[in-house]
Amino acid sequence: MFDIVVIGGGHAGVEAAWISQQFGLKVAILSLPGIGLASTPCNPAVGGVGKGQVVREIDALGGLMGRLADLSAIQYRTLNESKGYAVQSTRVQVDKDAYSRNAEKIIAEETTIEVLRDKAVEIDREEGIFNITLESSIKIQSRRVIITAGTFLSGLLHTGEEKTSGGRTGCVPGPGLQALIKEIKLNPLRFKTGTPARLNKNSIDFSVMDPQESDEHSLNFHFAHEPKQRFLEQVSCYLSRTNEDTLGIIRSNKDRSPIFNGQIKGVGPRYCPSIEDKAFRYPDRNSHHVFVEPEGLETDSVYPNGISTSLPKEVQEAFIRTIPGLENAEILVHGYAVEYDVVDTTQLDRALEHTEVPGLFFAGQINGTSGYEEAAGQGLIAGLNASLGLVGRSKLHLKREESYIGVMVEDLVTQKRDEPYRLFTARNERRLFVREDNTFLRMAPYRLSLGLNTNLDQSLSLLVSEYEVVMNLLSSYRYRENQENREHFLTQGYGTFAPNITLSELLKRSFLDPVAVLTNELLRAGIVVDSRVVRTAAISNKYAGYIDRAKIDLDRVDRFENKKIDYTDLLKSSNISTECKQRISEVRPETFGQLKRIQGIRPATLATVAGNFN
Ligand SMILES: Cc1cc2nc3c(=O)[nH]c(=O)nc-3n(C[C@H](O)[C@H](O)[C@H](O)COP(=O)(O)OP(=O)(O)OC[C@H]3O[C@@H](n4cnc5c(N)ncnc54)[C@H](O)[C@@H]3O)c2cc1C
Repeated sequence: MFDIVVIGGGHAGVEAAWISQQFGLKVAILSLPGIGLASTPCNPAVGGVGKGQVVREIDALGGLMGRLADLSAIQYRTLNESKGYAVQSTRVQVDKDAYSRNAEKIIAEETTIEVLRDKAVEIDREEGIFNITLESSIKIQSRRVIITAGTFLSGLLHTGEEKTSGGRTGCVPGPGLQALIKEIKLNPLRFKTGTPARLNKNSIDFSVMDPQESDEHSLNFHFAHEPKQRFLEQVSCYLSRTNEDTLGIIRSNKDRSPIFNGQIKGVGPRYCPSIEDKAFRYPDRNSHHVFVEPEGLETDSVYPNGISTSLPKEVQEAFIRTIPGLENAEILVHGYAVEYDVVDTTQLDRALEHTEVPGLFFAGQINGTSGYEEAAGQGLIAGLNASLGLVGRSKLHLKREESYIGVMVEDLVTQKRDEPYRLFTARNERRLFVREDNTFLRMAPYRLSLGLNTNLDQSLSLLVSEYEVVMNLLSSYRYRENQENREHFLTQGYGTFAPNITLSELLKRSFLDPVAVLTNELLRAGIVVDSRVVRTAAISNKYAGYIDRAKIDLDRVDRFENKKIDYTDLLKSSNISTECKQRISEVRPETFGQLKRIQGIRPATLATVAGNFN
């Protein structure tokens, strides 16, 4: 008998199992034969805007994704670099084989998790114990079950007119969600996602594309790694663009597109559209970015990011060869779309446990999300809560004001999904506070509350106390009027000396880089603290005013429940996104409260509208 059986060894499943074994529980991962743990069926990249925060939250809570990403990274980037420290996110391209190999190795060598390569075909429950029937006819028992079956349940692949059963290319499907669990009515939804063709790098002319080198200044995700340490050779990604010919071929084959000819019924991800979606959604635009990204150091396969498609093979070949640099591209695997069963997450609670079947948890793509990071974040929450329940502790909920994972879980369980869910910063009301750099501060109380007392807990406590010391110093340290300080300001380029100016005030001077100045000043004072603490203190200090302002905006949003609005004004506003306008025109809200409750309405939209009230 297992304490916890995790069905699925993807990003959600690995996190769920990894965190559960930290509680000393007997844990198994059930995964389909031939599929490596934490494999990356789409672009092998981790992090990005909003998602980088999730990876760091997972890491600070004791999860694995940050460590795996660093160990396998072959290109680093800091996104939003020009927009300032507060909204930056780290993204790494990983070697997909190394990523999965590292996951297998860590699970095998550092844990007691049993990995069973078999298919779950049915789950039932007797007196609170789950019986799981495997395809090999073996039955296993468990006190808790976490389902993380990704895109596999009733998976159906589409490439043009070709339809094949499968969870992803070359893989068998799982049973349907309702066939797997007969005990309750699940009413699965059908979603769809897609992936582009993979190309042979030796057939590509990179000389006509713009190279993007790995950024040596980007910081690792995992706590215990040196911030700028690199574990693998770093390589470049390349940028090309589609053109009129590319989009012309796609537009003239609309009737052969499974998305547009009715063959695919499932709803696809709005924020990861296929090239067909782009062609028809933006009829006047022909130039779309194509990032040509390596899939690993030892493979010839590259991933052309931005041209995901389920068009017939010959159409894919024709449009790909119109893209500069790809004129002679050899296709290794054709693009395809996959449709799959998704659970209705309003049936789950904030621990991701099913409200009608205690002990049954769901996490990852099966919950209607899209993306490795979203999956991993949910896996961690489901694993933590399944474990906490077994050791007699209360559930752990991350607050949405404090984490991206909290935002995602709350959105999932409170709103009925009508399309795949993806995290991005606009979903977060407090994005200036919920940053990558201050993750240790935001997550430390949660991690420490688990009482696991590992090296991670000690490092987190140390960082938090160092942070408090530095923040105290910022407001208390004043530059006295003397020659030495005057000269110091002059030589360091700090601007006009102001007697008694505090360190905090100095760091807020708009022409100074707060992180560089604080690093410099601490060095001058002989104070040694972790570079991550310096960074967080400098950024928190710099943005304190904006963070307070955002809090005031949020309070306004809460106060204006019954205020009348004219939704037609909102449809004309240039400050409101197209997605929000689409949803507003469907619901036609008459009060601010109604607007607030429309699924998918962004916090920024609410703040804009509330800003117009007296
Ligand atoms: C074609 C394709 C395109 C994608 N495109 C994008 C994209 O554009 N953007 C994006 O962010 N994400 C994309 N993804 C999604 C990304 O792959 C997922 O978000 C992520 O892998 C989900 O992680 P997961 O752990 O939920 O599921 P997965 O990583 O899919 O893992 C599922 C696991 O469940 C196991 N499993 C399934 N059924 C059973 C069963 N019955 N018994 C035992 N084991 C089982 C499998 O072996 C596998 O280990 C795409 C995925 C696919 C397949």
